[in-house]
Amino acid sequence: MKSCLAPLDAATDRMVARTMDWCAINSGTDNLEGIRRTADLIIPEFEAIGLTSEEQAPAPVTHVSDGGEVIEIPRAGAFVLSNRPQANRRILMTGHLDTVFPKDHHFQKIVDRGDGTLHGPGCADMKGGICVMLEAITVFEKTPYAEHVGIDVVLNADEETGSHASAHVLADKARSADIGMVFEPALPDGTLAGARAGSGHYTFTVKGLAAHAGREFDKGRNAIVGAAHVIAAVNALNGQRENTTMNIGVITGGVATNVVPDTCVVRMNARGRSPADLQWVDEQVRNIVASQNFGQDIEVSLHGGIHRPVKTNTGGTLALFELVKAAGADLGLEIGWQATGGCCDGNNLADAGLPNVDTLGVRGGNIHSDKEFAVIESFSERAKLACLVMLMLASGACPWPERLKGN
Ligand SMILES: [Zn+2]
Repeated sequence: MKSCLAPLDAATDRMVARTMDWCAINSGTDNLEGIRRTADLIIPEFEAIGLTSEEQAPAPVTHVSDGGEVIEIPRAGAFVLSNRPQANRRILMTGHLDTVFPKDHHFQKIVDRGDGTLHGPGCADMKGGICVMLEAITVFEKTPYAEHVGIDVVLNADEETGSHASAHVLADKARSADIGMVFEPALPDGTLAGARAGSGHYTFTVKGLAAHAGREFDKGRNAIVGAAHVIAAVNALNGQRENTTMNIGVITGGVATNVVPDTCVVRMNARGRSPADLQWVDEQVRNIVASQNFGQDIEVSLHGGIHRPVKTNTGGTLALFELVKAAGADLGLEIGWQATGGCCDGNNLADAGLPNVDTLGVRGGNIHSDKEFAVIESFSERAKLACLVMLMLASGACPWPERLKGN
């Protein structure tokens, strides 16, 4: 089977060139035009290897503005690329077109540093990963084993903000697949992410009453002071339950020191390591808001909730890890994995019952920063790894992992 992978020995230059072309276009999650241009480069590459493409509309996504208004934010749709719809075994492969770098961010250029790494926005997270996926499918499709397996690729465009607009597409495809392969970057040494924390975003909108701070101070109801009570109550949850964290990350409010502020917006991210942890967080937060105990005439409303369910490394997912490890050993790679507090679309796939390994992209690091890099030798290395995993399952050499229980 390994002999099928030979074409990938000479793939590095092509993969690097492609990734550099893709990374040269800004595709920050809010840059819909840049995402469109990126998709216009990437989608035809998948169509050229026989996948048919369909664009799925984004689900409506709302956000609380700094002024406390709930507004809809425009999001790009997700692309679904598929072949062999009749196949009774299906592999779901996912990647995201967006990056964390907005159009006006200073980090826009990709360069080959000449030291065996690329340095540029999205080279690891995860345009390099989409390139790995593309090459793995290309080689897989040329083997006789491909005819028994259907492939679905989901390329979404809002992963970096939590996949709110594309979660329905991921869940839909995850329900009809046997395994999931997500092409987020591996650590520089090749270690994969195992169990993943779950995450929730919460926005507290605190409303009071504006007044002149000198003339009518007593008529004012200070929303920032109200927010301070909210923050204290939420922050007090830290330390009450192991493996849960509540991070008050952003606060906005007030216009001038001589005005009693009528609005304050507080944004918080929560993490938990088990479904029960997340449920506890969610209940506690809702109870705090329900108490409305933040000062006279202060009203607090809540927006948001859990958006990334916890991913455990058990059952079919663990079986799939073992398979990836065996494929790696066959290729002379030692594959380990470790738990992480980060989240990705692998969380969503697991929640829909799909065993998945979610760091099958290039090896790289410093992601989400202007020091992001990808290791060049890992491009063909990881394409071989992904393709070999597909071949081991499609050929019957290894059993398909069971879908996750309770889903
Ligand atoms: Zn990513």
